Amino acid sequence: MKREYGARLLDVDGAIDLHCHPFPDLFPRLADDLDIAIAARNAGMKAIVMKCHHENTVSRAYFIQRMVPGIRVFGGIVLNSYVGYLNPAAVEAALKMGAREVWMPTVDAGYHAQVHGGAGGYDAQKGGRGGEGVWVTDNEGKLKPEVNEILELIAQHGAILGTCHLSPKEIVALVAKAREVGVDKVVVTHPFFKVPNLDLPTLEEIVRLGGMPEFGYCTISPAWQYASPEKIAAAVARVGASRCLLVSDTGQRHNPLPSEALRVFAQTVFEKGVSEQDIDMMIRRNPYDLLDLDSAPPMPDDVAETWAAAMAIPAGHEHGRDGVVHHGPGLGADDAHVTRPRSGDPMAVE
Ligand SMILES: [Zn+2]
Repeated sequence: MKREYGARLLDVDGAIDLHCHPFPDLFPRLADDLDIAIAARNAGMKAIVMKCHHENTVSRAYFIQRMVPGIRVFGGIVLNSYVGYLNPAAVEAALKMGAREVWMPTVDAGYHAQVHGGAGGYDAQKGGRGGEGVWVTDNEGKLKPEVNEILELIAQHGAILGTCHLSPKEIVALVAKAREVGVDKVVVTHPFFKVPNLDLPTLEEIVRLGGMPEFGYCTISPAWQYASPEKIAAAVARVGASRCLLVSDTGQRHNPLPSEALRVFAQTVFEKGVSEQDIDMMIRRNPYDLLDLDSAPPMPDDVAETWAAAMAIPAGHEHGRDGVVHHGPGLGADDAHVTRPRSGDPMAVE
């Protein structure tokens, strides 16, 4: 039994972090994919989603998943300059390879550039190429055709849409259209961060359209303090925890590791008056549903067809695919990652 000192101690056992920022990245980071996944797994967490402003994280998640059993690891794609901004071909490829979230532009959003005096970085961290960024709507406020195409792809794949650093007006237009074309999972990325910094009536409007606010520890972090914990607690009370998520949004060096940041955030919001049941909904049940964890295959389907799996020789079979007679038990599936040099290979040990 846990010993308690003061307010009841919450934990992140079974929790899911839909938004963390590991290294590699162009911004300084506290820890890499592997360390963050291991720390989250050791804290008992069920899943993490890794986000990078400058790289698609789907393949990174695939390898971390192979290396760290006991936790589910997912990736996605952020539509910044490195993929040519709003690029349906990049989205389609990422979704087919297992992306679970498609994030609208972040540091390369037009609105981000307007607020921060240029795209590519923040007040305190630089990393991208600068410039004016990209908007998802045209001069009349209509969504660009490529955005509609991207929304349709997200709907087809049952993935999550993240609104990121768009302007409040763009977010309203985007969420309305997303719902219209059948996107069921719409996450409103850190509503009280410097961008988009939604006011409460706009946030309520977006929630009514079907968006789910994703509050991040990073927003209230000591270094940035874009909002107070009280403001987050009040917003949760206003729109209802069944529509909300808590995430770490950490990886920055001035913040704790994502698993610890999520714990501190959950505990803080709890102490500001949100019920334990509501915290549970925001860190466990809601993200679980968004990731479809009940039906998510343990690995991307095609892993059964990888070279390593193909090289695995089932026990009892005398002949491998190379026609060479193998003595003793073959490599079981669990050992399939062990590469055995073959006769004739440059590295073969004769
Ligand atoms: Zn983030």
